[in-house]
Amino acid sequence: MEIKIDKIIRSRRRTLALQITPDARLIVRAPKRASLDYIKKTVFKKRLWIKEKQKIMQKRCQDIVVREFKEGEEFLYLGNQYRLSVVEGARPLSFDDGFKLSDIYRNKAKELFADWYKKKAFEKISERVQWYAALFGLSHKSIKITDAQKRWGSCSVEDKLCFSWRLIMAPLGVIDYVVVHELAHLKVKNHSKKFWTQVEVMMPDYKQHLKWLKNNDHLLSF
Ligand SMILES: [Zn+2]
Repeated sequence: MEIKIDKIIRSRRRTLALQITPDARLIVRAPKRASLDYIKKTVFKKRLWIKEKQKIMQKRCQDIVVREFKEGEEFLYLGNQYRLSVVEGARPLSFDDGFKLSDIYRNKAKELFADWYKKKAFEKISERVQWYAALFGLSHKSIKITDAQKRWGSCSVEDKLCFSWRLIMAPLGVIDYVVVHELAHLKVKNHSKKFWTQVEVMMPDYKQHLKWLKNNDHLLSF
């Protein structure tokens, strides 16, 4: 299996590091004096990891959607894709096993969707926080929905919880994982071993949801 090295960046570092860029290119960061032979050998040893990572990145590139809010386009909600219909009528945006957008509001579609997602995110996430908090006897100060692109949740030192509205596009298990993660911070503020044990107690299968989030976060961009 031939592995193409797209770029070698040499610097005053001690070890080799391999990086796969979002467009699936392989970049090798190497110490100034590392021989090309040594670099090639290391890359060959890591070939399975490289191929796997490149496959993931290529898939991500294909998945990135340009939204035009046209008839038939699909939108994520709780991990499922729902079809958009553009209809006549005064109601800007509604949902009933699919999205209905009024044609006179098409130029406002992005805002309408974001507002709809924010409202649903607040309802669903509040409900999940309350459920898990009651189950584990935890109490928080407040819940806020944020506009963050990638920071899915946070827990302040004053026990105020924040969640990004974009999470509402993810499957419920993934939302629950982020909820549990932030609730676990009510007990342990850092990401120590003790913290992850707490997460595991609250959600034994959390790893699969964390993995989903790592591999699919690009689907939640809006
Ligand atoms: Zn955390």
